[in-house]
Amino acid sequence: MTSLPVVVVGGGPVGLAAAAHLLERGLEPLVLEAGQGPGAAVASWGHVRLFSPWRFDVDDATARLLAPTGWTAPDPESLPTGNDLVDVYLTPLATKTPLADRIRYGTRVVAVARQGADRTRSVGRERRPFLVRTVEPGGQVTDVLARAVIDASGTFGQPNPIGTAGLPAVGETEAAGFLTGPLPDVLGRDRARFAGRHTLVVGMGHSAANTLLSLVELAEAEPATRITWAIRGATARRLYGGGEADELPARGLLGTRLRAAVDAGRLELVTRVTVDRLVPDGDVVHVTGTGRRDGADGELDLTVSAIVNATGFRPDLAMLSEIRLDLDAVVQAPAKLAPLIDPNLHSCGSVPPHGEAVLAHPEEGFYLAGMKSYGRAPTFLLATGYEQVRSIAAALAGDQSAADAVELALPETGVCSSDRAQDADDAASSAAACCGTAPGPELVTLGVGAPAGADDGGAGATRRDAGSGAPGSAGPEGREPVVAGAKAGFATGVAHGRSGDPVD
Ligand SMILES: Cc1cc2nc3c(=O)[nH]c(=O)nc-3n(C[C@H](O)[C@H](O)[C@H](O)COP(=O)(O)OP(=O)(O)OC[C@H]3O[C@@H](n4cnc5c(N)ncnc54)[C@H](O)[C@@H]3O)c2cc1C
Repeated sequence: MTSLPVVVVGGGPVGLAAAAHLLERGLEPLVLEAGQGPGAAVASWGHVRLFSPWRFDVDDATARLLAPTGWTAPDPESLPTGNDLVDVYLTPLATKTPLADRIRYGTRVVAVARQGADRTRSVGRERRPFLVRTVEPGGQVTDVLARAVIDASGTFGQPNPIGTAGLPAVGETEAAGFLTGPLPDVLGRDRARFAGRHTLVVGMGHSAANTLLSLVELAEAEPATRITWAIRGATARRLYGGGEADELPARGLLGTRLRAAVDAGRLELVTRVTVDRLVPDGDVVHVTGTGRRDGADGELDLTVSAIVNATGFRPDLAMLSEIRLDLDAVVQAPAKLAPLIDPNLHSCGSVPPHGEAVLAHPEEGFYLAGMKSYGRAPTFLLATGYEQVRSIAAALAGDQSAADAVELALPETGVCSSDRAQDADDAASSAAACCGTAPGPELVTLGVGAPAGADDGGAGATRRDAGSGAPGSAGPEGREPVVAGAKAGFATGVAHGRSGDPVD
Protein backbone atom coordinates (compact mmCIF):
# COMPACT_ATOMS: atom_id res chain seq x y z
CA MET A 1 0.00 0.00 0.00
CA THR A 2 2.89 2.40 0.67
CA SER A 3 3.65 2.46 -3.06
CA LEU A 4 0.28 4.02 -3.75
CA PRO A 5 -0.24 7.79 -3.96
CA VAL A 6 -2.19 9.93 -1.54
CA VAL A 7 -5.11 11.09 -3.66
CA VAL A 8 -6.12 14.72 -3.22
CA VAL A 9 -9.61 15.41 -4.55
CA GLY A 10 -9.71 18.94 -5.97
CA GLY A 11 -6.99 21.20 -7.36
CA GLY A 12 -8.11 24.38 -5.60
CA PRO A 13 -5.84 26.38 -3.31
CA VAL A 14 -6.16 23.90 -0.44
CA GLY A 15 -5.85 20.77 -2.60
CA LEU A 16 -2.67 22.07 -4.20
CA ALA A 17 -1.31 23.08 -0.80
CA ALA A 18 -2.04 19.55 0.44
CA ALA A 19 -0.06 18.13 -2.48
CA ALA A 20 2.88 20.44 -1.71
CA HIS A 21 2.94 19.40 1.96
CA LEU A 22 2.75 15.72 1.00
CA LEU A 23 5.69 16.11 -1.39
CA GLU A 24 7.74 17.82 1.34
CA ARG A 25 6.98 14.87 3.60
CA GLY A 26 8.20 12.39 0.99
CA LEU A 27 4.71 11.15 0.15
CA GLU A 28 3.49 10.90 -3.44
CA PRO A 29 0.41 13.07 -4.12
CA LEU A 30 -2.01 12.66 -7.01
CA VAL A 31 -4.43 15.55 -7.46
CA LEU A 32 -7.69 14.76 -9.26
CA GLU A 33 -9.38 17.95 -10.49
CA ALA A 34 -12.74 18.10 -12.25
CA GLY A 35 -11.99 21.39 -14.00
CA GLN A 36 -9.67 22.00 -16.92
CA GLY A 37 -7.12 23.94 -14.88
CA PRO A 38 -6.03 24.73 -11.32
CA GLY A 39 -8.42 26.69 -9.10
CA ALA A 40 -11.43 26.04 -11.33
CA ALA A 41 -13.92 27.07 -8.63
CA VAL A 42 -11.99 30.25 -7.81
CA ALA A 43 -11.85 31.11 -11.51
CA SER A 44 -15.65 31.03 -11.66
CA TRP A 45 -15.74 33.96 -9.21
CA GLY A 46 -12.55 35.48 -10.57
CA HIS A 47 -13.99 39.00 -10.80
CA VAL A 48 -14.52 39.14 -7.02
CA ARG A 49 -11.83 40.66 -4.82
CA LEU A 50 -10.78 38.66 -1.76
CA PHE A 51 -10.86 40.41 1.58
CA SER A 52 -7.70 38.64 2.78
CA PRO A 53 -4.41 40.17 1.62
CA TRP A 54 -1.88 38.00 -0.19
CA ARG A 55 0.06 37.15 2.96
CA PHE A 56 -2.85 34.99 4.11
CA ASP A 57 -3.51 33.50 0.69
CA VAL A 58 -0.23 31.70 -0.07
CA ASP A 59 0.62 28.44 1.68
CA ASP A 60 4.18 28.14 3.00
CA ALA A 61 4.98 24.77 1.42
CA THR A 62 3.74 25.97 -1.98
CA ALA A 63 5.91 29.08 -1.65
CA ARG A 64 8.91 26.84 -1.02
CA LEU A 65 8.05 24.80 -4.13
CA LEU A 66 7.67 27.95 -6.20
CA ALA A 67 10.85 29.65 -5.03
CA PRO A 68 13.28 27.78 -7.35
CA THR A 69 11.12 28.69 -10.37
CA GLY A 70 11.94 32.39 -9.90
CA TRP A 71 8.42 33.10 -8.63
CA THR A 72 8.19 36.24 -6.59
CA ALA A 73 5.46 36.58 -4.02
CA PRO A 74 2.97 39.41 -4.62
CA ASP A 75 2.83 42.40 -2.29
CA PRO A 76 1.75 40.72 0.97
CA GLU A 77 -0.57 43.58 1.89
CA SER A 78 -2.47 43.87 -1.39
CA LEU A 79 -5.76 42.12 -2.07
CA PRO A 80 -6.02 39.75 -5.02
CA THR A 81 -9.10 39.06 -7.05
CA GLY A 82 -10.04 35.45 -7.66
CA ASN A 83 -8.45 35.77 -11.11
CA ASP A 84 -5.22 37.06 -9.54
CA LEU A 85 -5.19 34.07 -7.21
CA VAL A 86 -5.42 31.71 -10.18
CA ASP A 87 -3.10 33.57 -12.57
CA VAL A 88 -0.41 34.80 -10.21
CA TYR A 89 -0.29 31.90 -7.74
CA LEU A 90 -2.15 28.69 -8.59
CA THR A 91 -1.21 28.46 -12.28
CA PRO A 92 2.56 28.80 -11.77
CA LEU A 93 2.26 26.37 -8.85
CA ALA A 94 0.43 23.81 -10.98
CA THR A 95 2.59 24.19 -14.10
CA LYS A 96 6.14 25.13 -13.07
CA THR A 97 6.78 23.01 -9.99
CA PRO A 98 7.01 19.25 -9.41
CA LEU A 99 3.24 19.28 -8.89
CA ALA A 100 2.75 19.65 -12.65
CA ASP A 101 3.11 15.89 -13.26
CA ARG A 102 0.92 15.04 -10.32
CA ILE A 103 -2.37 16.68 -11.33
CA ARG A 104 -5.03 15.16 -13.58
CA TYR A 105 -7.52 17.68 -14.97
CA GLY A 106 -10.96 16.89 -16.35
CA THR A 107 -11.16 14.11 -13.77
CA ARG A 108 -14.23 14.21 -11.56
CA VAL A 109 -14.27 11.98 -8.49
CA VAL A 110 -17.70 10.41 -8.18
CA ALA A 111 -17.07 7.99 -5.30
CA VAL A 112 -14.53 7.00 -2.67
CA ALA A 113 -14.58 3.56 -1.03
CA ARG A 114 -12.28 0.87 0.39
CA GLN A 115 -11.25 -1.60 -2.26
CA GLY A 116 -13.14 -4.85 -1.79
CA ALA A 117 -14.98 -3.73 1.34
CA ASP A 118 -18.25 -1.91 1.55
CA ARG A 119 -19.02 0.40 4.44
CA THR A 120 -20.18 -2.43 6.70
CA ARG A 121 -17.10 -4.66 6.41
CA SER A 122 -14.66 -4.14 9.29
CA VAL A 123 -12.14 -6.98 9.30
CA GLY A 124 -8.83 -5.81 7.88
CA ARG A 125 -10.44 -2.65 6.58
CA GLU A 126 -7.51 -0.38 7.37
CA ARG A 127 -5.16 -2.62 5.37
CA ARG A 128 -7.16 -2.17 2.17
CA PRO A 129 -6.36 0.70 -0.18
CA PHE A 130 -8.91 3.36 -1.00
CA LEU A 131 -10.65 3.05 -4.33
CA VAL A 132 -11.32 6.43 -5.93
CA ARG A 133 -13.74 6.26 -8.85
CA THR A 134 -13.35 8.97 -11.47
CA VAL A 135 -15.23 10.01 -14.59
CA GLU A 136 -13.78 12.01 -17.47
CA PRO A 137 -15.83 14.41 -19.63
CA GLY A 138 -16.26 11.71 -22.30
CA GLY A 139 -17.79 9.39 -19.72
CA GLN A 140 -14.77 7.14 -19.26
CA VAL A 141 -14.74 5.61 -15.77
CA THR A 142 -11.41 4.88 -14.06
CA ASP A 143 -10.71 3.53 -10.58
CA VAL A 144 -7.60 4.91 -8.87
CA LEU A 145 -6.10 3.20 -5.82
CA ALA A 146 -4.76 5.31 -2.98
CA ARG A 147 -3.06 4.80 0.38
CA ALA A 148 -4.97 7.78 1.79
CA VAL A 149 -7.46 10.37 0.53
CA ILE A 150 -7.72 14.09 1.26
CA ASP A 151 -11.03 15.41 -0.06
CA ALA A 152 -10.47 19.12 -0.77
CA SER A 153 -13.17 19.40 -3.40
CA GLY A 154 -14.84 22.44 -1.84
CA THR A 155 -18.55 23.15 -1.86
CA PHE A 156 -18.83 25.73 -4.63
CA GLY A 157 -20.39 23.19 -7.00
CA GLN A 158 -23.28 22.53 -4.61
CA PRO A 159 -25.29 25.71 -3.94
CA ASN A 160 -28.17 25.44 -1.50
CA PRO A 161 -31.64 25.58 -3.06
CA ILE A 162 -33.69 28.77 -2.70
CA GLY A 163 -36.75 26.98 -1.36
CA THR A 164 -37.17 26.92 2.37
CA ALA A 165 -36.63 23.85 4.55
CA GLY A 166 -33.44 23.18 2.61
CA LEU A 167 -35.47 21.80 -0.27
CA PRO A 168 -35.90 23.25 -3.75
CA ALA A 169 -38.96 25.43 -4.32
CA VAL A 170 -41.63 23.79 -6.46
CA GLY A 171 -40.50 24.33 -10.05
CA GLU A 172 -36.91 25.25 -9.08
CA THR A 173 -35.46 22.50 -11.24
CA GLU A 174 -37.52 23.54 -14.26
CA ALA A 175 -36.51 27.17 -13.67
CA ALA A 176 -32.80 26.34 -13.38
CA GLY A 177 -31.99 28.44 -16.43
CA PHE A 178 -33.08 31.57 -14.55
CA LEU A 179 -30.72 30.89 -11.63
CA THR A 180 -27.39 32.64 -12.15
CA GLY A 181 -25.37 31.14 -9.32
CA PRO A 182 -24.19 33.23 -6.39
CA LEU A 183 -21.60 35.46 -8.06
CA PRO A 184 -22.45 36.43 -11.62
CA ASP A 185 -20.09 38.98 -13.19
CA VAL A 186 -22.75 41.72 -13.21
CA LEU A 187 -20.50 44.53 -14.41
CA GLY A 188 -18.53 42.42 -16.88
CA ARG A 189 -19.20 39.16 -18.67
CA ASP A 190 -22.84 38.82 -17.55
CA ARG A 191 -23.89 42.48 -17.80
CA ALA A 192 -26.47 41.99 -20.56
CA ARG A 193 -28.34 39.49 -18.42
CA PHE A 194 -29.12 42.16 -15.79
CA ALA A 195 -29.02 45.54 -17.54
CA GLY A 196 -32.48 47.12 -17.68
CA ARG A 197 -34.09 44.03 -16.16
CA HIS A 198 -35.55 42.98 -12.84
CA THR A 199 -33.32 40.69 -10.75
CA LEU A 200 -34.15 38.88 -7.53
CA VAL A 201 -31.19 38.26 -5.21
CA VAL A 202 -31.84 35.60 -2.55
CA GLY A 203 -29.46 35.27 0.38
CA MET A 204 -27.69 37.14 3.12
CA GLY A 205 -23.98 36.45 2.88
CA HIS A 206 -21.03 38.20 1.33
CA SER A 207 -21.85 36.79 -2.11
CA ALA A 208 -25.29 38.41 -1.99
CA ALA A 209 -23.76 41.68 -0.79
CA ASN A 210 -21.17 41.69 -3.57
CA THR A 211 -23.76 41.01 -6.25
CA LEU A 212 -26.26 43.55 -4.88
CA LEU A 213 -23.65 46.31 -4.85
CA SER A 214 -22.67 45.48 -8.43
CA LEU A 215 -26.34 45.59 -9.46
CA VAL A 216 -26.74 48.97 -7.75
CA GLU A 217 -23.78 50.25 -9.72
CA LEU A 218 -25.24 48.81 -12.93
CA ALA A 219 -28.57 50.53 -12.21
CA GLU A 220 -26.80 53.89 -12.17
CA ALA A 221 -25.76 53.38 -15.77
CA GLU A 222 -28.92 51.51 -16.78
CA PRO A 223 -31.79 53.12 -14.86
CA ALA A 224 -34.41 50.55 -15.89
CA THR A 225 -32.49 47.96 -13.86
CA ARG A 226 -34.58 46.82 -10.88
CA ILE A 227 -33.33 44.92 -7.86
CA THR A 228 -35.26 42.99 -5.22
CA TRP A 229 -33.35 41.45 -2.33
CA ALA A 230 -35.00 38.59 -0.44
CA ILE A 231 -33.77 37.30 2.90
CA ARG A 232 -35.21 34.60 5.12
CA GLY A 233 -34.59 36.39 8.40
CA ALA A 234 -36.35 39.36 9.91
CA THR A 235 -33.40 41.73 9.51
CA ALA A 236 -30.22 42.17 7.51
CA ARG A 237 -28.41 43.46 10.58
CA ARG A 238 -25.96 40.55 10.64
CA LEU A 239 -24.76 41.32 7.13
CA TYR A 240 -24.77 45.08 7.56
CA GLY A 241 -22.59 44.89 10.64
CA GLY A 242 -21.98 47.91 12.81
CA GLY A 243 -24.75 50.03 14.19
CA GLU A 244 -25.74 50.40 17.78
CA ALA A 245 -26.75 46.77 18.20
CA ASP A 246 -23.47 45.33 17.02
CA GLU A 247 -21.28 43.42 19.44
CA LEU A 248 -18.12 43.86 17.38
CA PRO A 249 -16.49 47.27 17.43
CA ALA A 250 -16.32 47.57 13.68
CA ARG A 251 -17.75 45.87 10.62
CA GLY A 252 -17.08 44.95 7.05
CA LEU A 253 -17.47 47.82 4.65
CA LEU A 254 -19.50 45.68 2.26
CA GLY A 255 -22.37 45.67 4.71
CA THR A 256 -22.09 49.38 5.36
CA ARG A 257 -22.35 50.18 1.67
CA LEU A 258 -25.23 47.77 1.25
CA ARG A 259 -27.20 49.35 4.06
CA ALA A 260 -26.66 52.77 2.48
CA ALA A 261 -28.04 51.45 -0.81
CA VAL A 262 -31.14 49.97 0.88
CA ASP A 263 -31.74 53.14 2.88
CA ALA A 264 -31.43 55.21 -0.30
CA GLY A 265 -34.10 53.08 -1.98
CA ARG A 266 -31.77 51.78 -4.67
CA LEU A 267 -33.04 48.28 -4.11
CA GLU A 268 -36.02 46.78 -2.35
CA LEU A 269 -35.41 44.55 0.66
CA VAL A 270 -38.08 41.97 1.48
CA THR A 271 -37.60 40.13 4.78
CA ARG A 272 -39.00 36.85 6.18
CA VAL A 273 -39.19 35.50 2.66
CA THR A 274 -40.20 32.02 1.69
CA VAL A 275 -39.91 31.20 -1.99
CA ASP A 276 -42.50 28.50 -2.57
CA ARG A 277 -42.88 28.24 -6.33
CA LEU A 278 -41.08 29.23 -9.54
CA VAL A 279 -42.97 29.26 -12.85
CA PRO A 280 -40.95 29.95 -16.01
CA ASP A 281 -42.84 32.02 -18.56
CA GLY A 282 -40.86 32.82 -21.71
CA ASP A 283 -37.94 35.06 -20.79
CA VAL A 284 -39.20 35.74 -17.27
CA VAL A 285 -39.97 33.63 -14.23
CA HIS A 286 -42.80 34.15 -11.73
CA VAL A 287 -41.75 33.81 -8.11
CA THR A 288 -44.41 33.26 -5.47
CA GLY A 289 -44.27 32.77 -1.73
CA THR A 290 -44.51 35.01 1.30
CA GLY A 291 -42.55 37.98 2.63
CA ARG A 292 -42.64 41.13 4.73
CA ARG A 293 -42.61 44.63 3.24
CA ASP A 294 -42.90 47.85 5.20
CA GLY A 295 -43.55 45.88 8.37
CA ALA A 296 -46.48 43.89 6.95
CA ASP A 297 -46.45 40.19 6.12
CA GLY A 298 -48.08 39.22 2.86
CA GLU A 299 -47.86 37.36 -0.40
CA LEU A 300 -44.68 37.50 -2.47
CA ASP A 301 -45.45 37.69 -6.17
CA LEU A 302 -42.58 38.78 -8.39
CA THR A 303 -41.83 38.54 -12.08
CA VAL A 304 -38.08 38.68 -12.72
CA SER A 305 -35.62 37.97 -15.49
CA ALA A 306 -32.97 36.37 -13.27
CA ILE A 307 -32.58 34.99 -9.77
CA VAL A 308 -29.21 35.24 -8.05
CA ASN A 309 -29.21 32.24 -5.73
CA ALA A 310 -26.69 33.32 -3.09
CA THR A 311 -28.01 30.97 -0.43
CA GLY A 312 -24.75 29.31 0.53
CA PHE A 313 -23.33 25.90 -0.21
CA ARG A 314 -23.43 22.36 1.07
CA PRO A 315 -20.88 19.54 0.79
CA ASP A 316 -21.31 16.67 -1.67
CA LEU A 317 -21.48 13.74 0.72
CA ALA A 318 -23.10 11.32 -1.72
CA MET A 319 -19.68 10.52 -3.19
CA LEU A 320 -18.56 9.47 0.31
CA SER A 321 -21.41 7.14 1.16
CA GLU A 322 -19.06 4.13 1.49
CA ILE A 323 -16.68 6.00 3.80
CA ARG A 324 -17.12 5.95 7.57
CA LEU A 325 -17.44 9.59 8.46
CA ASP A 326 -17.99 11.23 11.82
CA LEU A 327 -19.98 14.31 10.85
CA ASP A 328 -21.90 16.78 12.95
CA ALA A 329 -25.67 16.56 12.56
CA VAL A 330 -26.07 20.33 12.22
CA VAL A 331 -23.10 21.58 10.23
CA GLN A 332 -22.12 18.42 8.30
CA ALA A 333 -18.52 19.10 9.26
CA PRO A 334 -16.19 16.76 11.20
CA ALA A 335 -17.82 16.32 14.59
CA LYS A 336 -14.97 17.84 16.60
CA LEU A 337 -14.68 20.85 14.32
CA ALA A 338 -18.37 21.65 14.03
CA PRO A 339 -18.91 23.22 17.48
CA LEU A 340 -16.24 25.76 16.61
CA ILE A 341 -17.83 26.90 13.35
CA ASP A 342 -21.57 26.37 13.75
CA PRO A 343 -23.08 29.43 12.01
CA ASN A 344 -25.82 29.54 14.63
CA LEU A 345 -23.22 30.48 17.19
CA HIS A 346 -20.16 31.83 15.44
CA SER A 347 -19.03 34.51 13.13
CA CYS A 348 -15.82 36.45 12.75
CA GLY A 349 -13.30 35.90 15.48
CA SER A 350 -14.21 32.49 16.71
CA VAL A 351 -12.33 29.86 14.69
CA PRO A 352 -9.14 28.52 16.23
CA PRO A 353 -6.46 26.74 14.21
CA HIS A 354 -7.02 23.01 14.09
CA GLY A 355 -5.39 20.00 12.52
CA GLU A 356 -5.44 16.30 11.92
CA ALA A 357 -6.72 15.29 15.35
CA VAL A 358 -9.86 17.37 14.87
CA LEU A 359 -10.30 16.36 11.24
CA ALA A 360 -9.85 12.58 11.62
CA HIS A 361 -12.74 10.19 10.90
CA PRO A 362 -13.33 6.57 11.88
CA GLU A 363 -12.10 5.81 8.33
CA GLU A 364 -8.37 5.81 8.94
CA GLY A 365 -6.48 7.74 6.27
CA PHE A 366 -9.46 9.73 5.01
CA TYR A 367 -9.79 13.49 5.59
CA LEU A 368 -12.01 16.36 4.56
CA ALA A 369 -9.97 19.55 4.18
CA GLY A 370 -10.47 23.10 2.98
CA MET A 371 -13.89 24.60 2.31
CA LYS A 372 -15.52 21.15 2.31
CA SER A 373 -14.33 20.46 5.86
CA TYR A 374 -16.57 23.32 7.03
CA GLY A 375 -19.67 21.54 5.75
CA ARG A 376 -22.45 24.13 5.62
CA ALA A 377 -20.60 26.73 7.69
CA PRO A 378 -19.69 29.77 5.58
CA THR A 379 -16.68 31.08 7.50
CA PHE A 380 -13.81 29.10 5.97
CA LEU A 381 -10.51 30.89 5.36
CA LEU A 382 -7.60 29.78 3.21
CA ALA A 383 -5.07 30.26 6.01
CA THR A 384 -7.07 27.83 8.14
CA GLY A 385 -7.09 25.28 5.33
CA TYR A 386 -3.36 25.53 4.78
CA GLU A 387 -2.75 24.67 8.42
CA GLN A 388 -5.21 21.78 8.14
CA VAL A 389 -3.30 20.17 5.28
CA ARG A 390 0.12 20.80 6.85
CA SER A 391 -1.08 18.87 9.86
CA ILE A 392 -2.72 16.08 7.83
CA ALA A 393 0.42 15.57 5.72
CA ALA A 394 2.53 15.35 8.88
CA ALA A 395 0.20 12.72 10.33
CA LEU A 396 0.18 10.67 7.12
CA ALA A 397 3.98 10.75 7.19
CA GLY A 398 3.92 9.39 10.74
CA ASP A 399 5.02 12.63 12.42
CA GLN A 400 2.16 12.91 14.89
CA SER A 401 3.85 15.47 17.12
CA ALA A 402 4.18 17.86 14.16
CA ALA A 403 0.61 17.06 13.23
CA ASP A 404 -0.62 17.94 16.69
CA ALA A 405 1.39 21.17 16.95
CA VAL A 406 -1.20 23.30 15.18
CA GLU A 407 -0.48 26.94 14.87
CA LEU A 408 -1.69 29.74 12.73
CA ALA A 409 -0.08 33.16 12.67
CA LEU A 410 -3.00 35.52 12.28
CA PRO A 411 -3.07 38.96 13.81
CA GLU A 412 -5.92 40.12 15.99
CA THR A 413 -7.01 42.47 13.24
CA GLY A 414 -6.63 42.34 9.52
CA VAL A 415 -7.92 39.09 8.07
CA CYS A 416 -11.48 40.27 8.10
CA SER A 417 -10.77 43.89 7.29
CA SER A 418 -12.62 45.03 4.25
CA ASP A 419 -11.54 48.66 4.24
CA ARG A 420 -8.59 47.54 2.16
CA ALA A 421 -10.93 45.77 -0.21
CA GLN A 422 -12.69 49.07 -0.62
CA ASP A 423 -9.42 50.90 -1.21
CA ALA A 424 -8.41 48.35 -3.83
CA ASP A 425 -11.76 48.49 -5.52
CA ASP A 426 -11.68 52.28 -5.49
CA ALA A 427 -8.30 52.20 -7.13
CA ALA A 428 -9.57 49.75 -9.73
CA SER A 429 -12.80 51.57 -10.39
CA SER A 430 -13.78 55.09 -9.56
CA ALA A 431 -17.36 53.92 -9.75
CA ALA A 432 -16.92 51.85 -6.60
CA ALA A 433 -18.38 54.54 -4.36
CA CYS A 434 -21.76 53.82 -5.84
CA CYS A 435 -23.86 53.88 -2.77
CA GLY A 436 -24.01 57.40 -1.59
CA THR A 437 -21.69 58.70 1.07
CA ALA A 438 -18.45 56.73 1.06
CA PRO A 439 -17.87 55.53 4.62
CA GLY A 440 -14.44 55.91 6.12
CA PRO A 441 -12.10 52.94 6.49
CA GLU A 442 -12.94 50.61 9.32
CA LEU A 443 -10.92 47.71 10.58
CA VAL A 444 -12.76 44.67 11.77
CA THR A 445 -11.36 43.42 15.02
CA LEU A 446 -10.89 39.70 15.55
CA GLY A 447 -10.82 37.79 18.74
CA VAL A 448 -13.99 39.06 20.34
CA GLY A 449 -15.18 36.37 22.67
CA ALA A 450 -18.75 35.47 23.36
CA PRO A 451 -20.38 37.04 26.37
CA ALA A 452 -20.74 34.30 28.94
CA GLY A 453 -24.19 32.82 29.09
CA ALA A 454 -25.33 33.97 25.67
CA ASP A 455 -28.04 31.63 24.51
CA ASP A 456 -29.24 30.83 21.06
CA GLY A 457 -31.76 33.60 20.89
CA GLY A 458 -34.46 31.14 20.04
CA ALA A 459 -32.68 29.91 16.94
CA GLY A 460 -32.47 26.42 18.36
CA ALA A 461 -28.72 26.66 18.31
CA THR A 462 -27.67 25.59 21.76
CA ARG A 463 -25.04 22.89 21.44
CA ARG A 464 -24.56 20.27 24.07
CA ASP A 465 -21.28 19.19 22.55
CA ALA A 466 -19.62 22.57 22.20
CA GLY A 467 -15.89 22.15 22.17
CA SER A 468 -15.79 18.50 23.06
CA GLY A 469 -12.47 17.10 22.04
CA ALA A 470 -11.71 20.20 20.03
CA PRO A 471 -8.93 22.68 20.52
CA GLY A 472 -9.59 25.21 23.22
CA SER A 473 -11.79 24.54 26.16
CA ALA A 474 -15.52 24.39 25.95
CA GLY A 475 -17.63 26.88 27.82
CA PRO A 476 -20.67 25.82 29.76
CA GLU A 477 -23.53 24.27 27.86
CA GLY A 478 -24.94 26.62 25.28
CA ARG A 479 -21.99 28.96 25.29
CA GLU A 480 -19.40 29.56 22.65
CA PRO A 481 -16.26 27.53 23.32
CA VAL A 482 -13.52 29.68 24.77
CA VAL A 483 -10.53 29.30 22.52
CA ALA A 484 -6.95 30.36 22.85
CA GLY A 485 -4.67 31.59 20.12
CA ALA A 486 -5.38 33.17 16.79
CA LYS A 487 -8.89 33.10 15.39
CA ALA A 488 -10.21 33.99 12.01
CA GLY A 489 -13.45 34.25 10.13
CA PHE A 490 -15.62 36.38 7.94
CA ALA A 491 -16.59 39.74 9.34
CA THR A 492 -20.27 39.52 10.06
CA GLY A 493 -20.56 42.35 12.50
CA VAL A 494 -21.91 40.28 15.35
CA ALA A 495 -20.13 37.85 17.59
CA HIS A 496 -22.73 35.14 17.57
CA GLY A 497 -23.77 34.39 14.02
CA ARG A 498 -27.45 33.62 13.60
CA SER A 499 -28.09 33.42 17.32
CA GLY A 500 -27.87 37.21 17.36
CA ASP A 501 -30.86 37.47 15.00
CA PRO A 502 -34.30 38.29 16.32
CA VAL A 503 -36.52 35.30 16.95
CA ASP A 504 -38.58 34.47 13.85
C1 LIG B 1 -16.45 34.87 -3.45
C2 LIG B 1 -15.57 34.26 -2.40
C3 LIG B 1 -14.61 35.03 -1.78
C4 LIG B 1 -13.77 34.47 -0.83
N1 LIG B 1 -12.83 35.26 -0.24
C5 LIG B 1 -11.98 34.72 0.64
C6 LIG B 1 -10.94 35.53 1.24
O1 LIG B 1 -10.83 36.72 1.01
N2 LIG B 1 -10.09 34.93 2.11
C7 LIG B 1 -10.17 33.62 2.42
O2 LIG B 1 -9.34 33.14 3.19
N3 LIG B 1 -11.15 32.84 1.90
C8 LIG B 1 -12.05 33.36 1.03
N4 LIG B 1 -13.04 32.57 0.51
C9 LIG B 1 -13.28 31.22 1.06
C10 LIG B 1 -12.34 30.10 0.57
O3 LIG B 1 -11.03 30.38 0.93
C11 LIG B 1 -12.43 29.85 -0.92
O4 LIG B 1 -13.72 29.37 -1.23
C12 LIG B 1 -11.40 28.83 -1.43
O5 LIG B 1 -11.52 28.74 -2.81
C13 LIG B 1 -11.56 27.44 -0.82
O6 LIG B 1 -10.54 26.63 -1.30
P1 LIG B 1 -10.68 25.04 -1.46
O7 LIG B 1 -9.41 24.60 -2.13
O8 LIG B 1 -11.05 24.43 -0.18
O9 LIG B 1 -11.93 24.82 -2.42
P2 LIG B 1 -12.19 25.30 -3.92
O10 LIG B 1 -11.44 26.53 -4.23
O11 LIG B 1 -13.66 25.30 -4.09
O12 LIG B 1 -11.53 24.16 -4.79
C14 LIG B 1 -12.12 22.89 -4.93
C15 LIG B 1 -11.68 22.29 -6.25
O13 LIG B 1 -12.19 20.97 -6.34
C16 LIG B 1 -12.71 20.74 -7.63
N5 LIG B 1 -13.75 19.72 -7.51
C17 LIG B 1 -15.00 19.86 -6.99
N6 LIG B 1 -15.63 18.67 -6.98
C18 LIG B 1 -14.77 17.76 -7.48
C19 LIG B 1 -14.84 16.36 -7.72
N7 LIG B 1 -15.93 15.65 -7.40
N8 LIG B 1 -13.78 15.75 -8.28
C20 LIG B 1 -12.65 16.46 -8.59
N9 LIG B 1 -12.53 17.80 -8.39
C21 LIG B 1 -13.57 18.43 -7.83
C22 LIG B 1 -13.23 22.09 -8.09
O14 LIG B 1 -13.26 22.18 -9.49
C23 LIG B 1 -12.21 23.04 -7.46
O15 LIG B 1 -11.14 23.33 -8.31
C24 LIG B 1 -13.90 33.11 -0.46
C25 LIG B 1 -14.87 32.33 -1.10
C26 LIG B 1 -15.70 32.89 -2.06
C27 LIG B 1 -16.74 32.02 -2.72
